[in-house]
Amino acid sequence: MAEQQNLEEKIHRLEELLKDQEMSAKLLVRRDLELARANQRLRDLDQVKSKFVSVAAHQMRTPLSAVRWALSMMLEGDLGAVSESQTRILNKALDSTNRLVRLIADLLDVDHLEAGKFIYTPTSFDITELVTSIADEASHSAKTKGVHLNVWKDQLPYFTIWGDPQKLRLAIQNLVENAIKYTPEGGEVTVSLLREGNETIQIQVKDSGIGIPQSDQRFIFNRFFRSANAMHTQTEGSGLGLYIAREIILYHGGSIRFESTENKGTTFFVTLPVVSKAAKTQEQSLASTV
Ligand code: ADP
Repeated sequence: MAEQQNLEEKIHRLEELLKDQEMSAKLLVRRDLELARANQRLRDLDQVKSKFVSVAAHQMRTPLSAVRWALSMMLEGDLGAVSESQTRILNKALDSTNRLVRLIADLLDVDHLEAGKFIYTPTSFDITELVTSIADEASHSAKTKGVHLNVWKDQLPYFTIWGDPQKLRLAIQNLVENAIKYTPEGGEVTVSLLREGNETIQIQVKDSGIGIPQSDQRFIFNRFFRSANAMHTQTEGSGLGLYIAREIILYHGGSIRFESTENKGTTFFVTLPVVSKAAKTQEQSLASTV
């Protein structure tokens, strides 16, 4: 009799347990549905945001180009002589316009990267030439700022890179411009090109600037992230350059990292694969047979 009662109790508990499980399963299915809907809503919102950025940036690009063109014409005296004070103001207006043009280009690049529509046009090219021309272009702003810019090149038997020179220019230029931007007057920036074994080259951009605070270092490649010390030193900046630079370098099979100490300086290290001599010869003989 007692055994029978015990069994019934067990069956009852089992039935309760089954009911609980059924309830939990239903709850899980409902949660899953809610999450799927929330996910879809987020995706839709993301698309609206991307569309907005893309339309706004495209719409701003043309009028800004017209403003830039008009300012340049005035500065060159095409519309009549300009006084010294007018030149000063026109130059300021041109600088601000150029910054806006750059910001719009960055916004469009991020939008294209996220949508997988960032178009690369690869070719084989000389990385030494590219790095030298970036440093040459940057020398004017370094001089204006009173920052000493050095370039150091290793002897490079393998110097050919397979990739998009325009995009890599954008990435490396950003590192060099940042180094100058975040280094106070009297400081030093060194751009080096080193060979790493037979398969990779390393580009180093070293500065003696403000550095990146330890607590911020893990966020530095996030979109729109700027350190407090950077914002304090340089109000201008979008926090998009490093994000874009990293995407471009990763696309080329390379890597990017940095070492930094606050108030002492920062060094960025970019490693890129080079085209081997054998591949180059093969490529040349292929080109000659076409
Ligand atoms: P931006 O320079 O427009 O703010 P970036 O994406 O190029 O944007 O850089 C993101 C942030 O990384 C900067 O705001 C700054 O905090 C930090 N940073 C980048 N390069 C340096 C550098 N050479 N020295 C100090 N901080 C740097």
